[in-house]
Amino acid sequence: SIKGQYGKYFATYDDALRGKLLRQQAITDNMESALAGGQFEVYLQPKYRIADERLAGAEALVRWNHPEWGLQLPGEFIPLFEKNGFITKLDQYIWDRACAILRDWDDRGLPPISISVNVSRADIYNADLADILTHTVEKYGLPPSRLHLEITESAYTENPSQIILTVSRLRELGFIIEMDDFGSGYSSLNMLNEMPIDVLKLDMKFIQNETAKPQSQGALRFIMALARWMHLDVVAEGVETRSQLERLREIGCDYVQGYYFAKPMPCGEFQELLKKQEEIAALELEEAWKSK
Ligand code: C2E
Ligand code: MG
Ligand code: MG
Ligand code: MG
Repeated sequence: SIKGQYGKYFATYDDALRGKLLRQQAITDNMESALAGGQFEVYLQPKYRIADERLAGAEALVRWNHPEWGLQLPGEFIPLFEKNGFITKLDQYIWDRACAILRDWDDRGLPPISISVNVSRADIYNADLADILTHTVEKYGLPPSRLHLEITESAYTENPSQIILTVSRLRELGFIIEMDDFGSGYSSLNMLNEMPIDVLKLDMKFIQNETAKPQSQGALRFIMALARWMHLDVVAEGVETRSQLERLREIGCDYVQGYYFAKPMPCGEFQELLKKQEEIAALELEEAWKSK
């Protein structure tokens, strides 16, 4: 019988589903105390300028240090928090931490680079978003331009008129707006033209597909031309190899982020990188001076 034949499959399916639901319940049961207990931590992934291969910024990516589960990546818990609404609270916490980090760097005399934070699609519908962000940068005495706001491409297509209003307001206030995951398959070029944005952040899959075929980088070249015409900076995400980097350099891409340079890292480690780069820059300046 069919039941006999597939009985085992059904049992496995039920177990897997049950396991997933239990896991989601456990995450939900733990999230509030995790936030209160400081278990969420900002990791920073370096962003490099292609022209000189220097550190030019960072993206803040949340990690969850659970005392029993260990270090948890956002791929599992962020989608759940977007469904249950907790993301709004968590994002505000991450934005606050990112600004605290920038304040600390400034106080130590480190270079005034910017941090890009992720803004969930759920945050866009929060009427207080602009006030919250403004209050956060002001609390740390930072200009809004030090905080870049990454909003995923699919959020733009969900509700274009709402997002144009919100994002225009944020931009007027001085925040830098980045369209995240661009090229993952949603936006029409027509819409892009109307979007009040400053930076295009190319999706990892797009980069990996397009740079895999050196003879036909048509789409990448086209996007670069469009970005130039719109006066947008372009960041390529998910760059893992030297040859990908070189192809991006060839077509005039501005910045890269990816495992080729560095994975997301704890804030202290990132700060060491930043310090080291300052020291190298100072040495180079001295050399140039001497050889005059
Ligand atoms: P995203 O904003 O597109 O971030 C880029 C993701 O790509 C990060 O994954 C990063 O670690 C990964 N990545 C960077 N370079 C490479 C590479 O060369 N190779 C590969 N294979 N991966 C690379 P992560 O940290 O796991 O974050 C996943 C997603 O979770 C993020 O995608 C973002 O959508 C969301 N997320 C992370 N932190 C936050 C947050 O604080 N708030 C919100 N709302 N979402 C967040
Ligand atoms: Mg992002
Ligand atoms: Mg994203
Ligand atoms: Mg992205």
